[in-house]
Formats: sequence, structure tokens, C-alpha cells
Amino acid sequence: MQLTIQNLSKTYANGVKALDNVSLTIPTGMYGLLGQNGAGKSTLMRTLATLQDADSGSAQLANIDVLKDKETVRRMLGYLPQEFGVYPKVSSTDLLDHFAILKGITNGRERKELVEALLHRVNLYEHRKKAVSSYSGGMKQRFGIAQALIGDPKLIIVDEPTAGLDPGERNRFYNLLSEIGENVIVILSTHIVQDVMELCNNMAIIHQGRVLYGGSPQAAVKSLDGKIWAKSISKADLPTYQQTHTVISNKLVAGKPLIHVLSEGRPSDGFEQASPDLEDVFFSTINAGAHV
Ligand code: ADP
Repeated sequence: MQLTIQNLSKTYANGVKALDNVSLTIPTGMYGLLGQNGAGKSTLMRTLATLQDADSGSAQLANIDVLKDKETVRRMLGYLPQEFGVYPKVSSTDLLDHFAILKGITNGRERKELVEALLHRVNLYEHRKKAVSSYSGGMKQRFGIAQALIGDPKLIIVDEPTAGLDPGERNRFYNLLSEIGENVIVILSTHIVQDVMELCNNMAIIHQGRVLYGGSPQAAVKSLDGKIWAKSISKADLPTYQQTHTVISNKLVAGKPLIHVLSEGRPSDGFEQASPDLEDVFFSTINAGAHV
């Protein structure tokens, strides 16, 4: 199965062009949609989840017209929105049971088995009687995945799922997602490069509503081989380097800026060649995209 998005555009009433001719081909497995805040990720996710309309373009899931045949899509969809809203003070067992009823699972025995299986799957079984509102951020996200899995979805959309999780919670969440993504399409929207690096075999970079890269993370990283140069500089020199070099990132290492520069050859004295990573891909792509 494959999701094919063609020339999708959306301009909000305030004039913001959130999606600008977006075309993507998304195969089975984990697909990363990487972009900064405001890039247009949620707009795309909500459109695919049939929660809002695009102005133009198409999206096809196998032989289903995603933008028109909304009921069919909803039956095949698992969605973990960016904001789940307020969690009620009911246990995860009761809340999952409620969601299962909404998804049309009317047989009580079947529902009970499903809810227990899901709680085991996301590792919340021992916390099944506690109120979801009392869960930690990571537990809430794992609960969110459990509800998204009800009804055996073929398309799972998770919007910014790791924002706000601590490293341990994030790891547990990564493990859970990587188990799910084997036979279905999972689209993971995120501004966190590490999410895509650890989980996704295909990805797109989206910036100002436009797709600037689509392909595998490995191919993207390889395309920068030999072109990334690193130097530790003093803070005061940073503006000069930014004017004279293509500085794609700077981060503090032991209190001093370590800059990464994109260049075909050694930019100037003191630069060491660095192995490119996905962060270099991300920043060099959106830097270049800003001028296109
Ligand atoms: P992301 O999920 O990547 O942060 P969004 O899709 O939420 O991006 O937003 C893309 C752009 O559209 C942003 O500039 C945002 O402010 C704007 N936007 C999002 N939703 C609305 C809305 N309902 N009305 C007007 N502008 C919106």
C-alpha cells in the first residue's frame, strides 16, 4: 500500500500559505515529515486525517480518494493529534473502551480483549486503573498510540509525538513506534531530527509549506559527504563567519560555538572535515530553501 499526495495546497483565510504544491509518495513503514514549527506539518496531517480541507490537489491511499472518501479513510485511520486536549479523570481501561465503542466495536467481550491487548502492547497494563490525566507525558503519548491502534488502522498519523518527553520516555516511545511501523503506513511529523534519524526509512523535509527533500535519510546524509566542515570559534567571531561562509548550524560545545559550514572544499584555516549527519541535511536544506 502507498499514499500518493499530489500538488496539495492550502491558504488560510489570513493569507498564510501553509501548503504550497506538496507532492509526496509515502510507502509502508515509518515516514518522517521533518520541519520547523510553522512549516505546515499539522496542516498536512489534519488534511490527511480528513479533519480539514485542502484548496487543491489530491491524496490517494491505495484506491481510495482521501480528500473525498472521508468515511472510508476514517475507518482505516489511527490519529494521534498534536494536542489531545484535556484528558478526563477516568482510567485508561475505561477511556480506551469508550474510544473502541466510538470506532464501532460493539461486542463487549471483543472490546475487553482488545483493550487489554492494547494496554499490554503500549506497556500501560499495570497502570490501567489509574486516571489518564495523572499519567506522565510519555505515558499519555503511549496511551495516545493505544487509542490510535483501535480498529487495526492501515494509516497511522502521529503529529509531533515526542515534544516534551524526557529522554527515557522518548526511547520507550521510539521502541513502541518502531514495532508498529512494519506493515502499515506511519507518518510521523516532527521538528526533532533525532526522531526521524532513529525511526524512519523514508522522509521529507518541509519548509514554508513546500517540500524541499523527499527520500531516505541515508541518501540525504550521503549527498553531503565531504562538504561539511566544523570549527570551534569564539562567540564574537560568529557574525563574521555567518557573513563570509555558509554556516548551516552553530551549537555551543563547552560554552564555545561549534559551527558547521557547507563547502565543496576546505573553507579556510582551522576547519576540520566533519561526517555529515541528518541535522546537517536539515539545516542546509532549509537554509538553501529560504533562498529558492
Ligand atoms: P507546523 O505543524 O509545521 O508547526 P502548521 O501547519 O501548524 O505548521 O502551520 C503552518 C502555518 O499556517 C503557520 O504559519 C501557522 O501559523 C498557520 N496556520 C495554521 N493553522 C492556521 C489557521 N487555522 N488559521 C490561520 N493560520 C494558520
